[in-house]
Amino acid sequence: MSILRRALLSGAAAATCLAWFAVGGTAAAQAYPSKPVTLIVPAAAGGPTDTVARLIAESMTKTFGQTVVVENVGGAGGTIGMAKVARAAPDGYTIAVWHIAQSTAPALYDGLKYDVVGDFDHLGRITDVPMTLVSKAGLPPKDIAEIIAWMKANQGKATYGHAGIGSASHLCMLILMKELGIKMEGVGYRGTGPAMNDLISGTFDVMCDQTTNTTGHIKDGRIKGYAVTTKAKVASVPGLPTLDSGALPGFEVSAWHALWAPKGLPKDVTDKLVAALKIALKDPKVLERFAGLGTEPVAEAQVSPGALKTYLESEVKRWDAVIKAAGVKASN
Ligand code: ASP
Repeated sequence: MSILRRALLSGAAAATCLAWFAVGGTAAAQAYPSKPVTLIVPAAAGGPTDTVARLIAESMTKTFGQTVVVENVGGAGGTIGMAKVARAAPDGYTIAVWHIAQSTAPALYDGLKYDVVGDFDHLGRITDVPMTLVSKAGLPPKDIAEIIAWMKANQGKATYGHAGIGSASHLCMLILMKELGIKMEGVGYRGTGPAMNDLISGTFDVMCDQTTNTTGHIKDGRIKGYAVTTKAKVASVPGLPTLDSGALPGFEVSAWHALWAPKGLPKDVTDKLVAALKIALKDPKVLERFAGLGTEPVAEAQVSPGALKTYLESEVKRWDAVIKAAGVKASN
């Protein structure tokens, strides 16, 4: 048995014990969950957030002994799904996995129907996923220098796919275009799951999307990968340079994901959800799949309501400044 496998298995045993203590709780707390839990993904099925959420849901299902069912409510950069979560009963039976777009929505959407901080219980961060600059397989450029030259030469007619205004894929491309001083035409989808299908079939030219959605397709040659958007290279796509190291020094964007619920959960339900999330982030299957897709769980200290709230508030401030400087609105 390999050292990695043995470490993963002993992690599993520890996680099961933790599950028993943390989720067993008191007699009163045993009532939750007594029926299936709905986990809303505010993006289409088959995309990167969906992939992360389904891994977490599968592990939570084992922990709770109740099914955690993923419901995809995509559209409008995730704001339709998150509005549904904000309006749901705060009983722990509706929760959501979403990402960085929770922090960009206030700056991008005038008249947003919910308060991204005040209308939610913040349960914990999950993972910080690197992104990749990719293109359809038939595009001529062979490396990062060539794709940048191609985008510059073809701006005006070049097209990029994204998961709606304010989504991670949109944000990443906005920053990239700003850095390069170019404009390309955006094509919006309800998530980068369906966008990826269209990139593979060649409907549009380029996209910036999470490694959790691009790794397999880059490896299989269905799309071309040019660079990663993190400061460090990514193990799942070792051949890709960082944008920071060459073409665009300082470039850094990644898509952090987290678990939310409507504001007002009973304390024992919050505790059980946070405990189940911590167990999921030690689950050998989750760790193995995350690693294969180029990501890993955040540090355990980040898997907490207080840490997520603080982080979200700082991200809202950070992106407000960037988005205002870029002059972008959801109607753009
Ligand atoms: N990757 C998408 C985004 O750009 C979201 C998704 O489809 O999961 O935000």
